Amino acid sequence: MSRMDPLWMNTLSVIEKKLDTHQFNHWFKPIVCESITDGEVVLRVPDKFFQDWLQDNYLELLRSELQQQSATDINVRFKYEDASQQPKNAEKSDETVRRSIPLDRRYNFDRFVVGPSNQFVHAACMAVTEAPGRNYNPLFIYGGVGLGKTHLMQAIGNELRRRNSDIRIRYINSETYINELITSIRTDQMDKFRSRYRRECDVLLIDDIQFIAGKDRTQIEFFHTFNSLYGDHKQIVITSDRFPQEIQGLEERLKSRFQWGLIADIQPPELETRIAILNRKASYDGVQLPEDVAMFLAQHVKNNVRELEGMLIRLTAHCRITGCPIDIDATRHILKDVLQSSGIRVSIQQIQKLVASHFNVSVSDLKGGRRHRAIALPRMIAMYLIRQNAGSSYPEIGRRFGNRDHSTVISAVKKIEGQLTTNNDVRKIVQDLQRSLV
Ligand code: ADP
Ligand code: MG
Repeated sequence: MSRMDPLWMNTLSVIEKKLDTHQFNHWFKPIVCESITDGEVVLRVPDKFFQDWLQDNYLELLRSELQQQSATDINVRFKYEDASQQPKNAEKSDETVRRSIPLDRRYNFDRFVVGPSNQFVHAACMAVTEAPGRNYNPLFIYGGVGLGKTHLMQAIGNELRRRNSDIRIRYINSETYINELITSIRTDQMDKFRSRYRRECDVLLIDDIQFIAGKDRTQIEFFHTFNSLYGDHKQIVITSDRFPQEIQGLEERLKSRFQWGLIADIQPPELETRIAILNRKASYDGVQLPEDVAMFLAQHVKNNVRELEGMLIRLTAHCRITGCPIDIDATRHILKDVLQSSGIRVSIQQIQKLVASHFNVSVSDLKGGRRHRAIALPRMIAMYLIRQNAGSSYPEIGRRFGNRDHSTVISAVKKIEGQLTTNNDVRKIVQDLQRSLV
């Protein structure tokens, strides 16, 4: 019953947002909340190892979120059934060890937006699904946090499974692999462990391999697993935050094997790709995302798609709760922290210069009174870009454009916002200019 306790459910959903999906699934999903009484929460976990891990790594998080949710001090106590006290039950103890995580069906190729930053790796992943174990083995994907490595890796798994429902795919994060190995050694189940990753496995997807650096026992084990799968022409896909040679504490023979197949890197997406990612995500979620809002979000969150998605979730939640429309003001509000910390602001002057030189007019033309379209359009675009990038107020912008009234600035900005959706030329110009600003 108390697994469903609302306090526990709320706490879990907050924690879920703070962690990687695999961390959350692995360490929080199995927890059963037994009781919440007198300032104490009792959480039942699978075993001692699990308890120790939670205690070392997540206790503070658990405690502080429970406190937040309940607005009171809460003590956390773990409980587990001592396996050694139980009658030997092969199936049950096997369960403790079996921790490989199922694939997330949302991580598929349809949901993955392809752009110049990731088209090579995307093509490599597609090729792997055409002929697993044959084209590129292993496929090694590396790149920064939140750029889609896990998504692509699982998309391979999902696609292979769609084509052949019997195929045995093991998807595992290397941290979990390490833990499984430790548990298997401790419970004397190495044979099972080995066969799970060798004989009973057709495709091995191993995520974030960098964590095995410095773990000698794991590296030896993985080396043999690799050889066995490779020898049987079974596909291996590996992700990492670094190029193999740059993983310190990784054995040379593994580094060299990781380079036997294809190495593909994934870069932060360009502005257009970021906008497309937001639009695709919004449409899956049934949210109408105005074009200027997508642009604004994409301009400010550049290096991490997970953060970009997080902002979109925050924005839609904020608007749903407050009842305000999804617009630039709401977005500005959501992005307050990002906007404040984004460091060097582009100056008004810089933007005026950039726009003037792009249109081959002078900065004094922009500030002056001529209303010819050849001047008026650049002027409005400059105002728009200043509003978006320099964070200046409307009256301030007005002052810097020959003492114009703030209402003139507002209507200029609105007009450009409108044209972003209706006029391809204007959108293209604004995007190009924006790119030279960031
Ligand atoms: P990584 O494993 O590289 O840290 P993830 O694969 O977990 O990154 O991606 C983080 C989030 O961003 C996921 O929700 C993923 O679906 C999304 N994402 C990343 N790249 C893209 C993309 N090109 N198109 C759509 N969604 C993406
Ligand atoms: Mg990942």
